[in-house]
Amino acid sequence: MGRTAVVTGGTRGIGAAICVALKNAGYTVAANYAGNDEAADTFSKQTGIPTYKWDVSSYEACVAGLAKIEADLGPVEVLVNNAGITRDGMFHKMTPDQWSAVINTNLTGLFNMTHPVWTGMRDRSFGRIINISSINGQKGQMGQVNYSAAKAGDIGFTKALAQEGAAKGITVNAICPGYIGTEMVRAVPEKVLNERIIPQIPVGRLGEPEEIARCVVFLAADDAGFITGATLSANGGQYLT
Ligand code: NDP
Repeated sequence: MGRTAVVTGGTRGIGAAICVALKNAGYTVAANYAGNDEAADTFSKQTGIPTYKWDVSSYEACVAGLAKIEADLGPVEVLVNNAGITRDGMFHKMTPDQWSAVINTNLTGLFNMTHPVWTGMRDRSFGRIINISSINGQKGQMGQVNYSAAKAGDIGFTKALAQEGAAKGITVNAICPGYIGTEMVRAVPEKVLNERIIPQIPVGRLGEPEEIARCVVFLAADDAGFITGATLSANGGQYLT
């Protein structure tokens, strides 16, 4: 059996593609999700990948969920922090609940998931943490002050933790996708997508979840140990850093 990998938000969208790509690359994969049991059942039946339900915004739930996965599948050696939500709105209309929900899932979720596996990774002198941030964390996006702040925070988390893990064989990297054709983006009105968003993408199309999954497999590999603290942009040329 290959190394054990956990993917949060692994049952739909980008996370599902990451799970399948890691499985195909030989990893033993576990997919976490929040509440959509129907999507999780379909995913599990189609892929044979086990699913585990908990909310990454709860530290206690993450500790318990990760303990269950480790009991079932062995120590977590690759963690992909992919779970994310949007609660968009212009700042003058944004509620404290919209702010907290996005920060708690998209930023605090990284602490909640990474902290419980960190000591084990240090003890075993190997680990791969891969955080799915966003182009909007790099450039900011109106209507997404909460999301942009959380995703920018993910990059700061990545850079700081990479320095702590480096001497222990643990790499910590971020991937910043541009617009990828998942439910999150398909929820944007078609007119806005076709007339405003896609024309801003030099390659002239949305990205595919599998194109982000390829980045994850690359960073998860044993021979990617010299890459840490990096931010890998995969955005069709929309934003060049
Ligand atoms: P989807 O909405 O398609 O899927 C989200 C997944 O995350 C689902 O499996 C969902 O579970 C899970 N999830 C949501 N909240 C929680 C939570 N609190 N605890 C555990 N699981 C949770 O999202 P995408 O695939 O589009 O996005 C994946 C990641 O990529 C996100 O972090 C997003 O911000 C980022 N991203 C996406 C872009 C895009 O264009 N799509 C662009 C840039 C970044 P359930 O099914 O149970 O709801």
